[in-house]
Amino acid sequence: MTTTNVQLLRKYNVPGPRYTSYPTVPYWDRTPTEAEWIERVANAIDTDTAHSGASLYVHIPFCRSLCTYCGCNMRVTRNHGLVMPYVEALLKEYDLTLQRLGRDALRIGEVHLGGGTPTFLHPEELDALMTSVLDRTFRGELSDPTPNTAETAPAPTASPGMPGEGRRTFVG
Ligand code: SF4
Repeated sequence: MTTTNVQLLRKYNVPGPRYTSYPTVPYWDRTPTEAEWIERVANAIDTDTAHSGASLYVHIPFCRSLCTYCGCNMRVTRNHGLVMPYVEALLKEYDLTLQRLGRDALRIGEVHLGGGTPTFLHPEELDALMTSVLDRTFRGELSDPTPNTAETAPAPTASPGMPGEGRRTFVG
């Protein structure tokens, strides 16, 4: 191994932050105001993603059990009665966001289902969620191709449950 590689190994062989966002939260110097946030999202939609379409992340926070390494925003539960109220609240939030952005629809290039465990939802609940999201989003303006990803857990995914085609990341 070269000296440079050994130096790099020593340099990075230390605990680091979770790189689920960049820059990571400790480096955020201040939280944007609501008006700034809306303005920046609108600008990004009109410029960066004007051709490719925006990436939509849908967070499903439920898990049946807790993984020892978990650092996610999630809730351990077996209570399925939580699902539809959550889905309804999520769609309401999406409508409010569209309203604040002053648009009826967004051009979406890809959809990612994360969590939590999206396959906590039954197939018909996932279908209802995605149908509603896509109805509110594309309005006949589908980007193509549309890469879709979803974090899933092996056990519930054993039954065919994910709508559409796409990549799946097994998380627990
Ligand atoms: S599946 Fe993911 S979100 Fe759920 S407990 Fe495990 S690491 Fe956390």
